[in-house]
Amino acid sequence: MTSSTAPLTPTTEPQAGKTNLLGLSPVKLEQFFADLGEKRFRVKQVLQWIHQRGVADFAQMTDLSKGLREKLERVAEIRPPEMVSQHESSDGTRKWLVRLDGGESVEMVFIPEKDRGTLCVSSQIGCALDCSFCATGKQGFNRNLSAAEIIGQLWIAVKSFGGFEPGVDRIVSNVVMMGMGEPLMNFDNVIDAMTLMMEDCAYGLSKRRVTLSTAGVVPEIDRLADFTDVSLAISLHAPNNALRNELVPINRKYPVETLVASARNYLSRLPDTHRKVTVEYTLMDHINDRPEHARELVELLKDLPCKINLIPFNPFPNSGYQRVSGNALHRFRDILQGAGYTVTVRTTRGDDIAAACGQLAGAFNDKTRRKERYEQRYLQQAEQPVRMIGMVE
Ligand code: SAH
Repeated sequence: MTSSTAPLTPTTEPQAGKTNLLGLSPVKLEQFFADLGEKRFRVKQVLQWIHQRGVADFAQMTDLSKGLREKLERVAEIRPPEMVSQHESSDGTRKWLVRLDGGESVEMVFIPEKDRGTLCVSSQIGCALDCSFCATGKQGFNRNLSAAEIIGQLWIAVKSFGGFEPGVDRIVSNVVMMGMGEPLMNFDNVIDAMTLMMEDCAYGLSKRRVTLSTAGVVPEIDRLADFTDVSLAISLHAPNNALRNELVPINRKYPVETLVASARNYLSRLPDTHRKVTVEYTLMDHINDRPEHARELVELLKDLPCKINLIPFNPFPNSGYQRVSGNALHRFRDILQGAGYTVTVRTTRGDDIAAACGQLAGAFNDKTRRKERYEQRYLQQAEQPVRMIGMVE
């Protein structure tokens, strides 16, 4: 593992009255230029400078007139978040700590594989959903990220790989919204950022290589196809409401069958056929890993075109859960495969730098006081004398 903690992008504060162009979608940038009385084709030029050449200084945008550059300097800025540290795992996984306006920070992870490189991006500081097995949830919630802060993570990753230099191969080929936060609870900013990820004049990623992952905010899935056609992943983790209510509390509001139906409806509204939803299922020892869970899952998913991604639970302190055993994992996978599903098992990467799913934390002020309650509960439990059920005193 290698680390560096020197700031890799400059520390900057937002400048009063200036619009940060980094997070503006093409449509919003067009409006911005229209308001300045400028021509539409400026949009393409400026998008390319920012997102394809990594330029954050208007003075370097040499194909804009001097007058326009000066005007932009007065009213606008291009301000990525500040990268405070970077760690590289022995397996090539990288993790960055990124500081946002207000001093809070989030983590972002890059996972290299044979045929692709995936960047795992955060959409919120913390998370409000409180899934029982997720470290981010235990940390509480602070706020939504702006579109500039979301796309800024990709901007930083590409820059740190030298990807803005001519001749450097594209290293980040896929983006998954699977870092901290629930992307559908920050709908507009996530849509703007994903639009930039796919925009030809910006990062030009294929819609199949940009994935939004949700714990199941059904009304937002229902309107997603009005705005985008990215790949959809649903974090299922349980095949029935009784168990899912415990693991993923938002299930109490939007039961699992409505989630599966809305995912199916999303696919049916996409212009192209043969798309599949990814079903994510985190496996915990003796919780959701029984053969009957696998069989129930087969039944639940029978009308949904999908592939299934099994994620062995990644432990964190005081989680109360353990990773699935190898036997249970294989049995579970075999039942799904036997029913005809494509099943992938997510291998744990970046273990030595705590960069695995559900381990991302970051340093922030929890506005929900959830972290405090969680710690209190844990400490109280730890302080109580251990009693055995049925013990005769
Ligand atoms: N809120 C979104 C995106 C963030 S979570 C969602 O729920 O989909 C990204 C994935 O990591 C989810 O499938 C989540 O359930 C999984 N995950 C969370 N904690 C985990 C843990 N401790 N071990 C393994 N996977 C975990």
